[in-house]
Amino acid sequence: MASLTPSHIIEYLFCPRYTFFEYVLSIPQYEEKFYKVRKGRDSHDLKLEQNKEYLRKKIGVVEKWQDQYLTNEHLRGKVDEVLLLKDGTMAPLDYKFAVYNDRVYDTYRQQMFCYAVLIEENYNKPVERGYLVYIRSKNKLIEVEIKEIDKALIRKSISEILSIIENNIYPKATKYKKRCLNCTYRNICTK
Ligand code: SF4
Repeated sequence: MASLTPSHIIEYLFCPRYTFFEYVLSIPQYEEKFYKVRKGRDSHDLKLEQNKEYLRKKIGVVEKWQDQYLTNEHLRGKVDEVLLLKDGTMAPLDYKFAVYNDRVYDTYRQQMFCYAVLIEENYNKPVERGYLVYIRSKNKLIEVEIKEIDKALIRKSISEILSIIENNIYPKATKYKKRCLNCTYRNICTK
């Protein structure tokens, strides 16, 4: 596998053994995925369209590129919007067909970190934050801080995933034993 998606990274960060079972042994996950990276479903909704302009003003957007399919050597992903901000930095913006429950899920954050890596490499500008719009919470806009350490985590994960796949490495189990309770692979995974 030469090209990874944010989902591969998210799975790996949940438990590195997912990567092994799914991509080295090719055992698919039969159960519903533990996370949902849901996209904005009704992006043609008029109210949302009007809101998009309002939100961009609020953020201080200088220029925008919509539906950007970005790649680098090992990662690919489609970003709803890539924004150039007043301060010269760039930011991904993603619409979620979801309700905001007072916290941003790790999976959403990790997806933003992946986009940050892709944007920096493709546009040659720094990315220090991303934005999520929760459609089912009246298009609530949430800013996600993106630090160097977050982008480094993505780059490190990519090289570890590739190493697992290319060298058939059986990785360490997740530290969080609770995650094993509902895991698809719990019956074949030696802890
Ligand atoms: S059972 Fe636990 S350690 Fe094994 S793959 Fe599932 S989450 Fe990871």
